[in-house]
Amino acid sequence: MAGVQDRIAVVTGGAQGIGAAIAARLASGGAKVAVVDLNEASTQPVVAEITAAGGIAIGVGADVSKADQVHAAFERVASEFGGLHILINNAGVLRDNLLFKMSEDDWDTVMNVHLKGAFLCSKTAQQYMVEAKYGRIVNMSSTSALGNRGQANYSTAKAGLQGLTKTLAIELGPFGVTANAIAPGFIETAMTKATAERVGTTIEDMRAAVAAAVPVRRGGVPDDIANTAAFFAGEESGYVTGQVIYVDGGRGLI
Ligand code: NAP
Repeated sequence: MAGVQDRIAVVTGGAQGIGAAIAARLASGGAKVAVVDLNEASTQPVVAEITAAGGIAIGVGADVSKADQVHAAFERVASEFGGLHILINNAGVLRDNLLFKMSEDDWDTVMNVHLKGAFLCSKTAQQYMVEAKYGRIVNMSSTSALGNRGQANYSTAKAGLQGLTKTLAIELGPFGVTANAIAPGFIETAMTKATAERVGTTIEDMRAAVAAAVPVRRGGVPDDIANTAAFFAGEESGYVTGQVIYVDGGRGLI
């Protein structure tokens, strides 16, 4: 199976959590991985872990919501590795609040990182992918795309990413480039720990509540998402495009 062997991948927000698990998973499949995050130094533990396991990775600092930083980062990846085949648009932030308390800055920050970031990274990456007549774009949506209290900004951005995914699939399909999205439910990371603190509970209680509520009776972990990302990123998935997979332990079923 070719999978992601010898492909060149960018994982945004790859310094921790879901992005770090995806970076490690793609590297273990033989991809050369650029771990992109706000601060290059923060990517070093993930890069070191991949390298220690025999994989190939570099860390690159860039804010995905800034066009000049995205261009410079992707140019560096393409010149160091010799191209770009896989883009995982994973970088994300939360600025949760009920609508009547949500500030304009809360709205703009979330739109800029999730939506504008995915737009800028996809637009930049597609140049290399179209030239290579090969590409895989994976956008990180969320079950919050279906609506979630306190997340008017985030749910809008995550629903928007599903629209972006389908449009990228239509426009880039003729060039051998697929675009798909993953919509995780509760996945235990720094992001969900911060949410637990904000709502006055603990991550342990949150995990237990999720386990009680979903058919598979456990909370999600970053490797659950890395597995789905590896599927979309693989060469064999070339006839799968414009799709959204909900990775939520079956929560949406009940
Ligand atoms: P996380 O642990 O907070 O990791 C997100 C990473 O993105 C952080 O390293 C963060 O850097 C980085 N980042 C933030 N803004 C950035 C920017 N402008 N440019 C580049 N990097 C930036 O979050 P996670 O839980 O792994 O989530 C990863 C993705 O999955 C996000 O898109 C999130 O919305 C989505 N998701 C998560 C869950 C869940 O339950 N965890 C569920 C559904 C969807 P800093 O730490 O320096 O800010």
